[in-house]
Amino acid sequence: MSLALVPLDLSVELEANLPCRKFDPDLWFSDSPPELEVAKSLCGDCPLRVECLAGAVERAEPWGVWGGEIFERGAVVPRKRPRGRPRKEDVARDATLRVEAEARLEASGLARRDAVRLAA
Ligand code: SF4
Repeated sequence: MSLALVPLDLSVELEANLPCRKFDPDLWFSDSPPELEVAKSLCGDCPLRVECLAGAVERAEPWGVWGGEIFERGAVVPRKRPRGRPRKEDVARDATLRVEAEARLEASGLARRDAVRLAA
């Protein structure tokens, strides 16, 4: 049988079109907070976002962007902090971002008490 007649495996096609496959995958595991924000926004267009996020929460991913959220040491963090001591206004902003991250998880049916924490 010619390869041209083999039916398309849609799961392979879907996988190839996932944002984390189309763009540089290192973006999803970058050390740079701005690059992680880009990865988070690219996940927003992914048809597997909710499933990806659920899997990452279940596995308590140690790091990287999964399902549009940043994971550190097994939990979602609202943002990756740059190196150095956080400023007072950053601490207040982190609290707001944490509430927003918890709301996103809850909207995805993934509310879990320990799933979101502030970045260390
Ligand atoms: S949601 Fe998951 S599968 Fe989709 S682009 Fe983001 S990391 Fe990749």
